[in-house]
Amino acid sequence: MDIRLETYDVLVAGAGYAGAVSARALAEKGKKVRVFERRDHIGGNAYDCLDGHGVLIHKYGPHIFHTNDKKVFDFLSRFTEWRDYQHRVVANIPDPAGGGRPGWRLQYPVPFNLTSLETAFGPEEGKKLGDKLIAAYGAEKKVTILELRQNPDPEISALADYVYEHVFVHYTMKQWGQKPEEIDPNTTARVPVFLSRDDRYFQDKYQGMPLEGYTKMFQRMLDHPNIEVLLNTDVRQYLSLEEYDIFLRGAGMPLSVPLIYTGPLDEFFGLCYGRLPYRTLDFVFETWQDRDHRAPGMPYPDPDHPLRGGGFYQTHGTVNYTVDEDFTRITEFKRLTGQDLPGVTTIVKEYSRPYIGAPQETPYYAIINPENNALYAKYKAEADKKQQLYLLGRLAEYKYYNMDAIAARALELAERLA
Ligand code: FAD
Ligand code: UDP
Repeated sequence: MDIRLETYDVLVAGAGYAGAVSARALAEKGKKVRVFERRDHIGGNAYDCLDGHGVLIHKYGPHIFHTNDKKVFDFLSRFTEWRDYQHRVVANIPDPAGGGRPGWRLQYPVPFNLTSLETAFGPEEGKKLGDKLIAAYGAEKKVTILELRQNPDPEISALADYVYEHVFVHYTMKQWGQKPEEIDPNTTARVPVFLSRDDRYFQDKYQGMPLEGYTKMFQRMLDHPNIEVLLNTDVRQYLSLEEYDIFLRGAGMPLSVPLIYTGPLDEFFGLCYGRLPYRTLDFVFETWQDRDHRAPGMPYPDPDHPLRGGGFYQTHGTVNYTVDEDFTRITEFKRLTGQDLPGVTTIVKEYSRPYIGAPQETPYYAIINPENNALYAKYKAEADKKQQLYLLGRLAEYKYYNMDAIAARALELAERLA
């Protein structure tokens, strides 16, 4: 396709949060923006769509919006209304009282909190331990598992070992192939032990799900006279790289307008220093009809189980399998979206493995450690030499950013470029 790229003020590669938010913010400042997206849809990894049963699913894994950043919330709220949704997650582990019998499971809130303590240790012992933790750290405080494991008090240390074993070590091994102490400490710090009765996964001021879904929100965001979106198009097909410049292929001149690149940085440079390591996920979607739910007669200690009504598969939006199973977690979309579809529900199981860059594989999580950061720095040094190149987003910056953080960075970059 012949596109006169020199007629745009800004080029954007990627139509996820990074690309779409920056495109809209720049368009509103009068810039003509061309967005390239190599997938056949907008929204990046937050993309959602109806499955074959009419259930609204998140194709690239469950996304729950949460932020304390009013500017980001206000910006996004121009393109969507919100369903008030407070995410709650439980760990699902074999119930020691079941003696290994199938179906005997125990559930307690994650982040592990005062309620989890009482479920795991019984009301009396749990309360005693909770009081001790509060005396040590303070009520409503969050303590990372790695900090808790440093505590010299034998009772607290035994408790830390319990939480490490029942919440963190197996889940982290599944997710990262490494133990909690071997991965970036900021990662497990996302889910600290919480000395509270608040059983929500996030405590952010603004939380919710876009009322009509993420894709609809992105459609409205990109719907602006100054924005043109080209799907199924990898921006790299238009570019060639010279030492200090990015050239438009065939145009014989360097790019004279900013290029906001939101894809993987190693790919931009043809993997010249080798691949940046990532974890990828296999998502296994299952749709259940009411009649398919768990076979009759199976014991299940949870009184809210779907067999007892409601057409839901599980009790919470997300259930983490922190001790057994090969998948890390199961998410049930209807619980997140509030979609009213009696008798049918779709869940997703997440299986994590190393990313090798095979076709159709997606790099989901940067594996942040000193060695990989050093490799990223080599690519970044190349990028810094290039006139007009701006790196933005979870992939391009090789960081573990939530949606709101990316939106905030996109707004900042648009300010700078305008
Ligand atoms: P992406 O969403 O990856 O978008 C980048 C886009 O660029 C993609 O569409 C890609 O196709 C395109 N692209 C790449 N290279 C090129 C190219 N050369 N040319 C053209 N297009 C290109 N965050 C939360 O806040 N809450 C959550 O609950 C949450 N859940 C998550 C669950 C999972 C399983 C994962 C993996 C992430 C989750 N996140 C969550 C994080 C969230 O997905 C990211 O913060 C967000 O998607 C980052 O947006 P982005 O634009 O940087 O990247
Ligand atoms: N984690 C864990 N057990 C849990 C939940 C989280 O061990 O039940 C650890 C695990 O290492 C995980 C990290 O905490 O990768 C961050 O969890 P989060 O839920 O924030 O991950 P994400 O939703 O980004 O995949």
